[in-house]
Amino acid sequence: MESLKELYKIGVGPSSSHTMGPMRAAMQIRQLYPGAKRYHIELYGSLSLTGKGHLTDYILEKTLAPAPVSVSFKSETLPRHPNGMIFYIYDETGNLLDKEEVYSVGGGSIVFKDGTLPKPQDVYPQKSMQEILEYTDQQGISLYEYVLQYEDDMEEYLYEILEAMFRSVETGLHKSGILQGRLKLKRVAKSIFQQAQNTRREADRERLLISSYAYAVAEENADGGSIVTAPTCGASGIMPAVLYYCYKQLHVDKKDLIKALAIGGIFGNVVKTNATISGADGGCQAEVGTACAMAAAAMAWIYELNNSLIAYAAEMGLEHNLGLTCDPVGGYVQIPCIERNAYGSLRAVDAAMMARQLGYLRKNKVSFDTIVKVMKETGKDLSSAYKETSLGGLAKEFGLE
Ligand code: SF4
Repeated sequence: MESLKELYKIGVGPSSSHTMGPMRAAMQIRQLYPGAKRYHIELYGSLSLTGKGHLTDYILEKTLAPAPVSVSFKSETLPRHPNGMIFYIYDETGNLLDKEEVYSVGGGSIVFKDGTLPKPQDVYPQKSMQEILEYTDQQGISLYEYVLQYEDDMEEYLYEILEAMFRSVETGLHKSGILQGRLKLKRVAKSIFQQAQNTRREADRERLLISSYAYAVAEENADGGSIVTAPTCGASGIMPAVLYYCYKQLHVDKKDLIKALAIGGIFGNVVKTNATISGADGGCQAEVGTACAMAAAAMAWIYELNNSLIAYAAEMGLEHNLGLTCDPVGGYVQIPCIERNAYGSLRAVDAAMMARQLGYLRKNKVSFDTIVKVMKETGKDLSSAYKETSLGGLAKEFGLE
């Protein structure tokens, strides 16, 4: 498995696959072709169908500026991945220097067709959760100690990520107004937070607070603000909401929260390695489902559960998001995405609570690896209308595109 630094990345929204990935691809192309004076870029598959709402063309033009850039939206899908791009690179006399086929494969990661950009090195020898649990059992170590065995400078990096997550919560909680795009959707995080303060029922207050934190980040993401991929931009509100709740309401120290962050990351990494974290590839179960599993694991660690119960919580977090479709209205990462981050956060906390109670009553029959495999297969069986194309579900009902 790759480093957690490849999973948690600070970037700008609204989409890791539709903005961060294309931005990285454009930066790479500019470096590879210093003589380039003009670009034409063709977007394929999901990048074409929801690229406008996800600001893909805008980010490509902005990244390659001042060189002129034209973007066309193709109806086909390239064979290797639903998020394909072809860059045509021209010199000053208008001659074609070269063309490059690039794929945005989720979480802001990109792959060139010919492998120009090598995949990041694996730093963990284990690939599955079972292997990780066997190893940590043998060594008698926690999942956080496992991360420290394989990764250097992690503490500093995790603090940086945690602070960026908390900044995105606090920034979102202070803003009001209308989100960018044709939906004219009102920001509500701040109001939910205020309602939480005023509610008399304690159980409601806790849940409203968690929701407000998730809304805050997801609204920031939808508006092109700074967030952390966890594991993607679309699902970036779930981990921060749960960690911020632990910080503010449960008074957990940051030194413990970075451990929870790392532990959640291991589960995200297992999904990324063995299935997908891309909505265009697997539907929203791959994004929000994975984020829910990660946050459930983090919360379970805060509850001081052992490694196998942490895995139980994560498994439930993903299992009960199986089949979740990706149908962003108008291609904007707003409906259903923002609200779904709040639901994902609440479900994560519930999953950790269930693992704490159920785990001592009976052994979980479904392993985390099994559910990851099932999620992958479910994603394959999902119609492409439900995989970030805005051709089905809610997107079709609203008929904005
Ligand atoms: S529906 Fe889910 S996967 Fe699709 S864009 Fe929204 S958050 Fe991402």
